[in-house]
Amino acid sequence: YCGMVAIVGRPNVGKSTLLNRLLGQKVSITSRKPQTTRHRIMGIHTEGDSQVVFIDTPGLHMEEKRAINRLMNRAAASSIADVCMVIFVVDGLSWTADDEMVLNKLRRGADERKTILAVNKVDHIKDKEALFPHLQELAQKFPFDDIVPISAKSGTNVGKLMSLARQSL
Ligand code: GDP
Ligand code: MG
Repeated sequence: YCGMVAIVGRPNVGKSTLLNRLLGQKVSITSRKPQTTRHRIMGIHTEGDSQVVFIDTPGLHMEEKRAINRLMNRAAASSIADVCMVIFVVDGLSWTADDEMVLNKLRRGADERKTILAVNKVDHIKDKEALFPHLQELAQKFPFDDIVPISAKSGTNVGKLMSLARQSL
């Protein structure tokens, strides 16, 4: 039995907003400023007699010169090791070198867990068609178990992520 889901991604893609939305509570601080989440934040979702533990991780960085960044990377990496499912959060409009680095970190041990790509901030995207080429490209980079366009802010498709998480138990 596992029941643990890690929310990972580069800074500012909306990981903490997603955790809060999944739990229906403000357990993690969200901010326009990157690096607001500095520690692992856990939240437990209980439904009936089953529980899912969600772990909000600090954003992973390429820049490891500062000690705080190294610490944050380590916290995020060790979160990934223990879980049965990873929700990899990206911004629907931009793919950066930091996203690429996070994706590469997810490759190690990927056979032992599910990896869901959550393409966030779709409320921001007026031209939904523009999303498709982007998603196809991402799907070629990694064998995601599922790809879900979401809005952590407005809640679009967050229920879908919750049911995937509950199925992964
Ligand atoms: P984190 O660093 O990945 O934890 O990102 P946060 O959850 O702190 O969010 C970073 C910024 O993105 C904040 O200003 C959020 O309000 C904003 N944000 C998060 N999710 C969404 C979303 O679905 N749509 C929009 N438009 N903004 C979002
Ligand atoms: Mg955060």
